[in-house]
Amino acid sequence: MSTAPRGWTATLLDPDEPPAFEIVNAQGAGSAVLVCDHASNRIPRRLGSLGLAPEQLADHIGWDPGAAEVARGLSAHLDAPLVLSGYSRLVIDCNRPLANTASIAEQSAGVLVPGNLGLTTQARAARVEALFRSYHDAIERLLDARSNRPSILLSIHSFTPALSGEQRPWPVGVSHWRDRRFAALMSTALGHRVDGIVGDNQPYPIEEAIDYTVPVHGEGRGLHAVMIEIRNDGLRTTAQIDAWVERLAAAYREIEAEAIKLGSFPANI
Ligand SMILES: [Zn+2]
Repeated sequence: MSTAPRGWTATLLDPDEPPAFEIVNAQGAGSAVLVCDHASNRIPRRLGSLGLAPEQLADHIGWDPGAAEVARGLSAHLDAPLVLSGYSRLVIDCNRPLANTASIAEQSAGVLVPGNLGLTTQARAARVEALFRSYHDAIERLLDARSNRPSILLSIHSFTPALSGEQRPWPVGVSHWRDRRFAALMSTALGHRVDGIVGDNQPYPIEEAIDYTVPVHGEGRGLHAVMIEIRNDGLRTTAQIDAWVERLAAAYREIEAEAIKLGSFPANI
């Protein structure tokens, strides 16, 4: 997959920095495969703070607060392998196609990102190779290694309760791309376990031009896949996080047999 010469990685991450991704429970025997594109708000040392204040990096523009903890809990409950991205979406967003202008965002939710302005081709390539490719290659290898058994992809995210002055009422949302069969099962099972309405492709629909992970690693290879978005005001304490893990795990277990029966299908892209 990689086209740039070796060495790009070395131009972004120092040897003592964490890798671009982390794999938890790689040999997990369950049917679910978990990914967390926005798990971390870490910035590679060489990029400083991208010109942002610590409180801006800690906010939802830098990552999905609480999502990594939920994903780790689910990995344990469902015996599912989990791949987490190691760096902030502001360095490069692992859920955006590279051609999308939000891949390396010059502004996010109205906040200008000074460290992303006027990047050279080389600076962009370094981020693509060191972070984006490394993370997605890891997911691809993991799914390749499981190709002889059922895999259902759950992409775990969190979202901010209000954006651009608009309140978002859903405590959780399930988003699908073209095939909504698995999403429908998951939404119904979750609906019995939450107070409020489960977002149906809310707060975000999945679109090929905007999303990468579900179209490419899910339907792109014929796997059922959803993005699960949890409103982050429900993920502020360990008890809240544990409750979401329990709910999601119980909902998944309830529909797992039916979901596996759906089988895989011809790749969609
Ligand atoms: Zn996210």
